[in-house]
Amino acid sequence: MAEDTIAAIATPLGEGGIAVIRVSGPDAVGVVEKAFRSKTKLSQVESHTVQYGHVVNPADGERIEEALVTVMRGPRSYTAEDVVEVSCHGGIVSVKKVLDVLLDGGARLAEPGEFTKRAFLNGRIDLTQAEAVIDLIRSKSDRAFSIALKQVDGALSRKVKSLRHTLVETMAHIEVNIDYPEHDVEELTNAFIREKCEFALGAIDEMLRTAEQGKLLREGIETAIVGKPNVGKSSLLNTLAQDNRAIVTDIPGTTRDVIEEYVTVGGIPLKLLDTAGIRETSDVVERIGVERSRSAIASADLILFVVNGNEPLSDEEESLLEELKDRQTILIVNKMDLATHIQMDALYRRLPAERIVRLSAKEGEGLERLEKAIGALFFSGKIESGDITYVSNVRHIHLLKKARASLQEAIEGVAALMPIDMVQIDVRNAWEHLGEMIGDAVSDSLIDQIFSQFCLGK
Ligand code: GDP
Ligand code: ZN
Repeated sequence: MAEDTIAAIATPLGEGGIAVIRVSGPDAVGVVEKAFRSKTKLSQVESHTVQYGHVVNPADGERIEEALVTVMRGPRSYTAEDVVEVSCHGGIVSVKKVLDVLLDGGARLAEPGEFTKRAFLNGRIDLTQAEAVIDLIRSKSDRAFSIALKQVDGALSRKVKSLRHTLVETMAHIEVNIDYPEHDVEELTNAFIREKCEFALGAIDEMLRTAEQGKLLREGIETAIVGKPNVGKSSLLNTLAQDNRAIVTDIPGTTRDVIEEYVTVGGIPLKLLDTAGIRETSDVVERIGVERSRSAIASADLILFVVNGNEPLSDEEESLLEELKDRQTILIVNKMDLATHIQMDALYRRLPAERIVRLSAKEGEGLERLEKAIGALFFSGKIESGDITYVSNVRHIHLLKKARASLQEAIEGVAALMPIDMVQIDVRNAWEHLGEMIGDAVSDSLIDQIFSQFCLGK
């Protein structure tokens, strides 16, 4: 357990309704008690209760702020230490004043991520969970949020732990074989090892398959909206942004900046490329093929090609369609509220039906078909299935790949009738890589690096 007591502002700075200052450590209650006047002394209140009172300057008793104070005695707290949370009025001045008296009273300003680091060091959460907290703070959509939440819950660690259990069993089996190397035991052992390793390999492959989806959900699908002037690109962008502003508001530590480049469609975050180009008004000559939208097209995961259904395709649009049809392109036939003058059957001959979406950006009609089309393109339409544990963290993916490679070697070793203690090494390596995922045997510097990604107060 840590020796000192730390404090930090846990809510975003700015004009919030309330702000929370979090204090954690052996003297958390003592530090706050010195500067808080309430009916019952904090050291005498029951754990997990809220007290109303005033934060005062201990030197002269002057009132600084009205506050609600929550005492959570360890180990039933976020850090597993004594935690006290002071909720006061938002606004930079009052929050800073309160923090200052607490620091004067003996608390130290927490480093970014230090609360979560303590939770980890005190064994309350494992590394995948800690990293999920980072993801939570950063998540750009509801869907990414729920994936991260699940990891905080420990779904990923449970999976990794059960795989490690399988590998320990395998190693135990090999150990027995090394002690009793009779021939028939060896054959049985080989079959056993192969079966277990193949099982683990399959499970890892499954997790890696979700990784790509997880990455898209966490970071957003890089999307280019292209099309000639006046087809309705800006209208589409505005409609999407209106209903689906991708922003997480209720989590302490998140910035509340509006991230306009992100919208969500059916819970899937789209990271819109070159929105500046789209937002430009029509007096600037927008043209298909200008450098900027070219580079957006080149780097996009998803291209939304907008055309006006109220008029025939132009030659330029024809050739762009030809160019884009083998990419991840969805053709949006806009202005369906007007009469159809585009040759729909010609379009259906060139693109699969699920990649053509008719809608009206102006009326906001048909957006659910766009959701469906994107879901089908990126998630084989299966994004909804609730029990998938998405692996979305780069470090986790890297370790899974290493574990996979070790298992592959073990399987090949068995097939080549390698000495069994050599195979043992591979299995052990796989076991260790998986252990690193959940924070078994990771170095201090890695821990520091991971936790330094947090923002203050977490
Ligand atoms: P952009 O140049 O491709 O960005 O097109 P805009 O979004 O600026 O739209 C050009 C014009 O088409 C505007 O007058 C819009 O109001 C109109 N428009 C856009 N979408 C629709 C639609 O779905 N139906 C109708 N009737 N008009 C639309
Ligand atoms: Zn425009």
